[in-house]
Amino acid sequence: MYRFSRSMYRELAPDILEDGRAHGGPSNHERVLRACEAAVYRLATDWHYFAKPTKTLFNDIRIYFPMSAQQRVYLIVDRYMTFAKEYFSSLPMTGYDIAGNRIECRATTRRGTRCRRTPLPEHGYCPSHQHLAEPGEMPLAA
Ligand SMILES: [Zn+2]
Repeated sequence: MYRFSRSMYRELAPDILEDGRAHGGPSNHERVLRACEAAVYRLATDWHYFAKPTKTLFNDIRIYFPMSAQQRVYLIVDRYMTFAKEYFSSLPMTGYDIAGNRIECRATTRRGTRCRRTPLPEHGYCPSHQHLAEPGEMPLAA
């Protein structure tokens, strides 16, 4: 999954502001790469609940870029995050996410326990609970 964050980082890297590294902390390049990895990881494992991936990542990293590059940075982030989200949400359901966590239906049963059936990729609910999916999350009719 890190091919998304690596490629995104490679496109962003030329515009990253150089820092003095006076205090030996992580460089701006490392911070941007880590932020990209964290955002892609979150998309891969939790994309149902990651509402604004582009905005979130852009807000995390924009301080490492000059004003003149902000527009370009936003467009790069948006392109990769949109692509990554489409990719992860289209993966066939194995019952496990790519981090190895078991994926379960988002619904709670009438007895108040978590529904443990394997959800459909389009909305994260199993077939018996798919009526709970919010409008707009339902798969488009063919
Ligand atoms: Zn269910």
